[in-house]
Amino acid sequence: MDKQSKKTITIAFAGNPNSGKTTIFNNLTGSNQHVGNYSGVTVEMREGVFKHDGIEVKVIDLPGTYSLTAYSIEETVARNYIINERPDVVVNVIDGSNLERNLFLTAQLKELGVPMVVALNMADEMKQKGMQVDRQMLGKELGAAIVSTIGSRNKGTKRLIREIVECVQNLGPKEPADAPPIHYGREIDAELEKITSLITAHGGKDIQQRVSPHWLAVKLLENDPEVLIYFDDEKVRHEISVQVDHSSKRLQSLFGEEPEMLIAEQRYGYVRGICRAMVQQTAEARMDFSARVDAVLTNRVLGLPVFGILMYLTFWLVFTVGEAPMGWIEGGIGHLAGVIEFYWPEGKAVHLHSLVIDGIIGGVGGVLVFLPNIVLLFIAISLLEDTGYMARAAFLMDRMMKWVGLHGKSFIPMLTGFGCSVPGIMGTRILDNRRDRLTTMLVLPLMSCGARLPIYMLIIPAFFARHNAAKVLFAIYIIGILIAVLSAKILRATVFKGEPSPFVMELPPYRVPTARAIFTHVWQRVWLYLKKAGTILLAISIVMWALTSYPKIPAEKLDGLTKHEVQEATLSYSMTGRIGKVMEPVLKPMGFDWKIGTSLVGAFAAKEVFVAQMGIVYSVGEADEESKALRDKLADNYTPLTGFCLALFCLIAAPCMATVAVVRRESGSWGWAMAQFWGLTLIGYILTVIVYQAGSLLRLGIH
Ligand code: GDP
Ligand code: MG
Repeated sequence: MDKQSKKTITIAFAGNPNSGKTTIFNNLTGSNQHVGNYSGVTVEMREGVFKHDGIEVKVIDLPGTYSLTAYSIEETVARNYIINERPDVVVNVIDGSNLERNLFLTAQLKELGVPMVVALNMADEMKQKGMQVDRQMLGKELGAAIVSTIGSRNKGTKRLIREIVECVQNLGPKEPADAPPIHYGREIDAELEKITSLITAHGGKDIQQRVSPHWLAVKLLENDPEVLIYFDDEKVRHEISVQVDHSSKRLQSLFGEEPEMLIAEQRYGYVRGICRAMVQQTAEARMDFSARVDAVLTNRVLGLPVFGILMYLTFWLVFTVGEAPMGWIEGGIGHLAGVIEFYWPEGKAVHLHSLVIDGIIGGVGGVLVFLPNIVLLFIAISLLEDTGYMARAAFLMDRMMKWVGLHGKSFIPMLTGFGCSVPGIMGTRILDNRRDRLTTMLVLPLMSCGARLPIYMLIIPAFFARHNAAKVLFAIYIIGILIAVLSAKILRATVFKGEPSPFVMELPPYRVPTARAIFTHVWQRVWLYLKKAGTILLAISIVMWALTSYPKIPAEKLDGLTKHEVQEATLSYSMTGRIGKVMEPVLKPMGFDWKIGTSLVGAFAAKEVFVAQMGIVYSVGEADEESKALRDKLADNYTPLTGFCLALFCLIAAPCMATVAVVRRESGSWGWAMAQFWGLTLIGYILTVIVYQAGSLLRLGIH
């Protein structure tokens, strides 16, 4: 039947015990009610009717519940009524003076996806407690109209009826199904998506019309015994339960806790996020452990310095702790080259010899040396993520991000970007607004990724004293962030003009991360790095080696030259030498020579190639006895100013191939990918030229 012309509608009251359901129910129905029992169980049910504008409204007072799991009879009855009888509207009565506890149920009703109106009851007590709720924002978040009521004084009843009728006639605000979804964190969301798509593909059309597949997936993962019965087909049921089992085991092994616990915790996190964002409270907040810690970590004054210190500690860790194992790997690679030299002295199969020693060991080996730093960076990121601190950092950043025109949530994909831009850009999917999403995506490569770390690790210690190195590295990262912030602000004020969309940030509880979760997260990323070194980097190193070694300069041209001159001549005669020389005029204003130019070309394929190629450039045509560490050679050939400019340029300019590809995919157009590539390259170029020219003028860092 057409919703507009419905003459009878059914509404059901749901809410925590003592939230005031029965009181409001009485306000609506007066004496037109009777008390019955739900069939088979001894749970009391009141039913009543009232008329409004010629519409007959049937009202059910469901038993009071704190949750919608099938754990108690009350919960089962309330849930089954909503799912099976499908009332036109669920009226969720909330005791506003106990908002956090009450919203826990509301969050589940929202996920259920049924049309809902919220009665924010006990408005008198809220006022007494000094609580103020942003009803409009809350309404948008929940996808439901919010009506303030005082049941015991029959206040707000008319407004409530109006909203209920409007909701049935589809005149009210959007439905919960259209509201932004609750996020359970990367890992759980990924598992939920697998289950949801299985349900949407094969499972029970009938049930899907009544509740959202996402809710079914959440319940399945929460190990709810009664949800599976909604799927009639035995085969489908089996398939779904296999997937649920698999997901559940995976999460369990990752976090060392049952998924139902994890989900409940995150749901509390969501509710806490709502309260932080939308409730102003003068009364004392409930001080559980997380709240107490949050009082410091998300404090307006202390929060940012604490964040800064944690970040600085991260860089310090990456630098100092990484140094020793880096030396071991360096030694190991040197040893390997030595062994090869011993059994395969120069002169036999010279070309192949050079390929193995200069191309492969010099190139790929030069990149592998930085593995310990990468591992440390990822351990630090994982620790920050898995303890729950990242969400706080995002919360802290919310004000700064708002100033930029973005939501604090954008900060999370950006943080991921410090590991690698590719998952960071994919992570922008948690942003529901396209303008926010594109802006975040476009500036994200300015978060200096793990692949750029080897470049800094090569350059910075070559030119800066040990006690300054961590500071310079920190500065590079900060510069990236500042440029990102400014670019985002400009984008948000011009191309992507519009209000930032408000939505809630989940604040999960703090937890001690399991060793396994840390290990898994670090290993995933390290494995990617190793795979990259063994495939793309290996291939590119070989190509770059060939371009750097050929064509060979005719021997007669080398007559009478010193060793150093021979090396120079050999290199400039080669293909890369020629390419570099063509580029040199453009690079010169930044203080770069053609040797650096060839390495920059390689860096587009993957940032680490820069390091590999510098290794190749400085070892081709070199006599063995003058073999020196690459850092020392750089220090001999360039000034600290050039070193800094190099780090700066590599930070900003030319996102790598993989980034371009993923931006094209996630934005749906080559246009954005290209705009980003050339935009960043231009900014990088201009800034580096300015820094180099100003530095030269002021005679900073030129010897
Ligand atoms: P139910 O368990 O949800 O059905 O809650 P009841 O309707 O039985 O209400 C519980 C108690 O709260 C009763 O004593 C009501 O009088 C009281 N109550 C209901 N609404 C309000 C309100 O808006 N303000 C105040 N102060 N008390 C209320
Ligand atoms: Mg009651």
